[in-house]
Amino acid sequence: MNVLVINAGSSSLKYQLFNMETEAILAKGMCDRIGIDGHLKHKPESNGKPVFNESIPLPSHAEAITVVIEKLTSKDYGVISDLSEINAVGHRVVNGGRKFSESVLVNQDVVDAIEACARLAPLHNPANLMGINACQKLMPGVPQVAVFDTAFHHTIPDFAYVYPIPYKYFKEHDIRRYGFHGTSHRYVSAQAIDYMGGKVEGSKIISCHLGNGASLAAIKDGKSLDTTMGVTPLEGVPMGTRSGSIDPALVDIISSLEGNIDLKETMDILNKKSGVLGVSCFSSDFRDVETAAGYDIETGHKMEDKPVNELCKLALDIFCYQVAKFIGSYIVTMGGVDAIIFTAGVGENSPYARFGIIERLNGIGISMEEPKNRFRGLGKFVDITGKDSMAKVLVIPTDEELVIARDTLKIVK
Ligand code: AMP
Repeated sequence: MNVLVINAGSSSLKYQLFNMETEAILAKGMCDRIGIDGHLKHKPESNGKPVFNESIPLPSHAEAITVVIEKLTSKDYGVISDLSEINAVGHRVVNGGRKFSESVLVNQDVVDAIEACARLAPLHNPANLMGINACQKLMPGVPQVAVFDTAFHHTIPDFAYVYPIPYKYFKEHDIRRYGFHGTSHRYVSAQAIDYMGGKVEGSKIISCHLGNGASLAAIKDGKSLDTTMGVTPLEGVPMGTRSGSIDPALVDIISSLEGNIDLKETMDILNKKSGVLGVSCFSSDFRDVETAAGYDIETGHKMEDKPVNELCKLALDIFCYQVAKFIGSYIVTMGGVDAIIFTAGVGENSPYARFGIIERLNGIGISMEEPKNRFRGLGKFVDITGKDSMAKVLVIPTDEELVIARDTLKIVK
């Protein structure tokens, strides 16, 4: 059975085709600049055929999916002989609102409900729906499954998800903490629990998904107890370009400092010009910022002969400090911790960030073995726990697409 996984953004669409007997990736790729001009990178993984990496007109998501299917089945770049070899499609959907606590088979009610949540995720849900609609048109009769970023966090208790603002916003408008990166937190925390002997009951895990977007989750008894992102993915730790949690009065202050710009422009500053980029005045990419701050991105060590860009160093310090602060607060709310997980682009690849975060937890007995930490992008599970550390420190590569494919298989079966 083959499952096609689709992650549709507003102008991009990533895909992976899995053979679910072996969980091998048959092909993967990305359509970019949809609705602008169009570009496709398609990579067959199973048969040594060449990569297709060219500009190609992609006026809409429907055209993008048509082109993807054409490539998946083509003589030169294909991995399957025809469309009938795609048995199901799994879609990433960013916000499932209050309705979806797990993945579901897509029908009209589900489409309507995803549409209804679009006001909570105006940049993401409409794009995810475009992917679903396009697949329904091109592959009628092929089951489609929606997998929600928010679903894993449905176990968060009300005292952690209701904001201390007038209650009517929650009651009448569903404004609450939803949290994101749920498929990633679910996947890596399950691996950590397996690694520590498989006992779910009583387990206390803190998962740090640190990429361009970043969030932490406190996972107790295998269930999400709290997470740093909120009603939108702007809340929590500082990110590549997002501020994370700040004094809400800054919205008003920034607007007046910029000459009374409107709310949308002010929110753009917090979403796109803040975080590591905002403070460093240099880049949102951790590799650039670490190098400019004088650190070797392979080892995380200071390069003695290199000049230090002080703002880059400050941006990294703010990031590591805030992540460590949230870890500390989750240790309190869970009453302890068995394992801290690092995952996603920065978590898996940056010895500097891992060291900078764990160093700040040394005072409460959490440590890592520095030499074991000196790696990036190994793509495998690595235990970097220090000798007398009171909690494990684990680097676990995330795989959101595989989770979507597995959920899809389970539901379709
Ligand atoms: P993601 O959003 O999960 O793809 O993560 C993207 C982030 O991971 C970017 O900020 C990258 O700079 C960062 N990243 C990738 N490799 C490294 C590395 N070797 N050192 C530091 N950051 C890295």
